[in-house]
Amino acid sequence: MKSAKIISLLNQKGGVGKTTSSVSISHALSMKGYKVLLVDLDAQCNASESLGVNSSKVNVYSVLKGQEKLDFINASDNFYLLPASLDLAAFELEMSSEAGREYLLKEALEPVIAHLDFIIIDCSPNLGLLTINALTASEYYICPVLPHHLSITGFSTLLEVVNKIKRRLNEKLKLAGIIMTQFNKHKVLHRETAEVIQSHFEDKLFSTTIPENISLAEAPTSKQSIMDYAPTSKGAIAYRQLTEEIINKLK
Ligand code: ATP
Ligand code: MG
Repeated sequence: MKSAKIISLLNQKGGVGKTTSSVSISHALSMKGYKVLLVDLDAQCNASESLGVNSSKVNVYSVLKGQEKLDFINASDNFYLLPASLDLAAFELEMSSEAGREYLLKEALEPVIAHLDFIIIDCSPNLGLLTINALTASEYYICPVLPHHLSITGFSTLLEVVNKIKRRLNEKLKLAGIIMTQFNKHKVLHRETAEVIQSHFEDKLFSTTIPENISLAEAPTSKQSIMDYAPTSKGAIAYRQLTEEIINKLK
């Protein structure tokens, strides 16, 4: 029987490429024939909006609150979306006295795990209750980082949170890898940062880096993933290659 691999895209820093990576990797996986669900777990709704979905009745907030049955939007062949909604911003406060509030997403996804190959969760840039729900439901997390020295400050905070979750809520959770995004191989700073990360995290840095690529920045405005918007762009090629690396690593 199938059992979906559940992967959270995680970094409490904003604008590092969590959403771009979630959408691009999800679509690339589905194009290889895998059945993929992308969960937009961020009140900014960036993943949903970048796929052209706005204020949908089907959304992760109403599912987590138990107001609606789990349902998806079909983004393209084999590619399903559980969109976010603005209400998610209130989730943390509303759930502050709910017993088992860390397990709501895990519970909600249980009925579909056997029908999917991958569930990709796009986290928000903070380490609050929604992100804790993502990490409690996931077997793996992937961290996109920018190629600046500052990109790894804050990493120790992130690892502390992950370690607490491993101890208390989900011992299966593992780092699948670190993605270097918006990388420009001609910039000394970018190459140096890649070396620093490699020396700290050894085999955890994916060997595919994602280049700075204007098509990746433009795709959300066209309400399409990079795989439809500019399938031959450097960004699309890099994300397809990275997806192969992820598939091989998680075999
Ligand atoms: P947040 O923390 O706010 O959720 P994020 O980590 O999800 O942000 P993205 O939204 O994926 O980050 O990316 C931030 C911005 O950078 C977006 O405008 C996106 O289009 C752009 N961007 C992401 N990756 C690239 C890239 N490789 N080349 C050029 N632009 C990129
Ligand atoms: Mg995002």
